[in-house]
Amino acid sequence: QTAFTHPVCVAVEVQGQGACLSQASGLSDDWFDHDGQITKRPVRALTLSALAPRAGEHLWDIGGGSGSIAIEWLLTHPATQATVIEAVPERAARIAKNAARLGAARLKVVTGTAPDALEGLAPPDAVFIGGGLSAALLARLGDVAQGARIVANAVTLESEALLTQTHADRGGNLHRIALSEAVPLGSKHGWKSAFPIVQWSGRL
Ligand code: SAH
Repeated sequence: QTAFTHPVCVAVEVQGQGACLSQASGLSDDWFDHDGQITKRPVRALTLSALAPRAGEHLWDIGGGSGSIAIEWLLTHPATQATVIEAVPERAARIAKNAARLGAARLKVVTGTAPDALEGLAPPDAVFIGGGLSAALLARLGDVAQGARIVANAVTLESEALLTQTHADRGGNLHRIALSEAVPLGSKHGWKSAFPIVQWSGRL
């Protein structure tokens, strides 16, 4: 459905003409068309907080998936900019549609594989790595995005090891986010754990 963010947003919703987007980062996953590759709402909220968008700033969202991180970055302020890099063409097309539907059509979508696809892009103020994390990517970012803030999320043991070493070498903050959600368990409920996510935030 159509999403609104303008000042009469709530009136629009009451009149049944569309839905009113929350002003907070961490929108419901339902707002984004996706194929399962999406940073879920609570982790997305923590990630946007760590990215700390400011008016006028440019984000690189590497491994865009559904585009949810870049789109929420753009929704924080009309003067923000974002470029999303996604290797799978079908996902890149979905990202553009999600951005247009949520009022973030100024998103630049690059279909390609990082780090190669980063060549020639306007430099970022902040970088998010949601896919494609590797030592080679971090090394390349040190050249092409020197001084930018960086947030990287890891779910595999291999990428977790890389972020642990990066934190030891460069400082910044390292968090382990272990979330559970209540789901039906027989006639009652139990905690279903998501894979823990290790998040490093620092400077390039
Ligand atoms: N943050 C996203 C989810 C990312 S899932 C969201 O909220 O929707 C990881 C994505 O990274 C996948 O879509 C995968 O195709 C992409 N990817 C993996 N390696 C990549 C690389 N080297 N360059 C670009 N995209 C990559």
